[in-house]
Amino acid sequence: MKQAYWVLSFFLVTTLVSCQAEKPAQDISDRSEIIQPQNWWENLPRPIYSSLEKIDVGQEWYEVYKLSIDTIAIYEPYQFEEAISFLVLGKDKGILIDTGTGIGNLKKLIQELTNLPVSVVNTHTHWDHIGANSQFETIACFNHPECIEKLIAGMGNSRLRPSITGDSIWKSLPEDLDVSTWKIPSVKPTELLEDGDNIDLGGGRILEVIHTPGHSPGSICLLDKKNRLLFTGDTFFPGPLYAYPEDVDIDLYRASIDLLKERIEEYDYLCSGHNDPWIKSEVIPRVAAAFEDIMEGKGDFNQDGELRRYYFEGFDILIRTDMIKD
Ligand SMILES: [Zn+2]
Repeated sequence: MKQAYWVLSFFLVTTLVSCQAEKPAQDISDRSEIIQPQNWWENLPRPIYSSLEKIDVGQEWYEVYKLSIDTIAIYEPYQFEEAISFLVLGKDKGILIDTGTGIGNLKKLIQELTNLPVSVVNTHTHWDHIGANSQFETIACFNHPECIEKLIAGMGNSRLRPSITGDSIWKSLPEDLDVSTWKIPSVKPTELLEDGDNIDLGGGRILEVIHTPGHSPGSICLLDKKNRLLFTGDTFFPGPLYAYPEDVDIDLYRASIDLLKERIEEYDYLCSGHNDPWIKSEVIPRVAAAFEDIMEGKGDFNQDGELRRYYFEGFDILIRTDMIKD
């Protein structure tokens, strides 16, 4: 979840509150600078986008890029999360890997892009990956109670509002979006995925479900062996990896990165849930090493209260001091 969190106090780690927690959203001025830097949009557009083929679409909210003929990245650059969903097409059907913030009309967008039936597969159930789930009929998530609960819970307006107001947004929201009532509706998953499941889209395009807990208990990656792509959700993205919120298990997170490192011969690119739609797989062993360094007390960081942001080449790690064990 590359999303805004609010630091109620700069000095007490126990007051770090995530959007996922059942607490009211805090005033935007309380956000930690090391999570959401001021004027974050001034570094946009990210360089990679000038090298990608852009597809013209009917909604200004989305930018759509063709990674290949049957792999399309759907990017939301105007909201802080810079969420990316992926339309992955086979011969018979497609899947939509995550549904972003839900600010735009994603169903309408997908209908512009393909005539194939498309079902949703969530890499995990943080709000910025499930926002438009309710626009679709079929939704799969990992078979973990946390995933199911979060989909059914949805998310209310008061907790979401800071993410669509103030500095979280730098362009106009769609005209039909009412900031005062907007929410993520409750949905029920129509399919539950297990580790090792294969999602067959026809024409030889099969995606393997790999359970990669850590960022959240039910996080998964999806391995497209034929095209040598690994869809990573938030397990990896080229930005500050969220290793600090309440639902993170740092040991599981590290084990999942190690698992991806073991399987690195099976993929060339990571297609991640934020910022850049793909990045070379060589970063994964460096992420494993970065976590090891942090645990050994190495690495450059900035600190705000008990929260640290460690800096590495191509990614950062946000972590709490109490998670660093040595
Ligand atoms: Zn997440």
